[in-house]
Amino acid sequence: MNTKDILSRLSQVRGRGESWTARCPAHDDKSPSLAIRFKSDGRVLMHCFGGCAVDEVLGAIGLDMNDLFDDGPVQRGEQVKPAFYATDLLRIISVESLIVALSAIDISNGKPLSPDDLERLKLAAERILEATRYA
Ligand SMILES: [Zn+2]
Repeated sequence: MNTKDILSRLSQVRGRGESWTARCPAHDDKSPSLAIRFKSDGRVLMHCFGGCAVDEVLGAIGLDMNDLFDDGPVQRGEQVKPAFYATDLLRIISVESLIVALSAIDISNGKPLSPDDLERLKLAAERILEATRYA
C-alpha cells in the first residue's frame, strides 16, 4: 500500500513527504485531526487526535492493519509507538488554538457559548493536550 493509495481515501489531506494530516474518516471530524506518517522502512503510522483507534480509522476507509505494513501483517499485540513530526502536531494545535481563541472572543463580547460550541471548546482543549503528549 503506497502513500497515494492511502491518501486518496482521505479528505482535507495536507502535508508532504512522510508527514500528512487529514480529516479522520472514523468520526465526525470538522478539522483534520488524523496524523499519518509514512516511514522510510515501509511502515505507516496513523494517529487520530480525536481518540479513534487505528483499526476504526482503517475500517472507515476499507483498509486493515495489514495494509499499513509492506512486510506483512503486524504481530498481534505489537505496539507501534506513534512518533510524529512537530509540524503535524503544530498544524493540529494551531487549528484547535483558533477555536479556543474564537470562543474567548465570544465570551469577552458577552456572547454565551452554545452547548455545541462548549463541547467543541472542550474537544479543542483535549486535542491540544493529546498533541502535546506526542511532542
Ligand atoms: Zn477519529
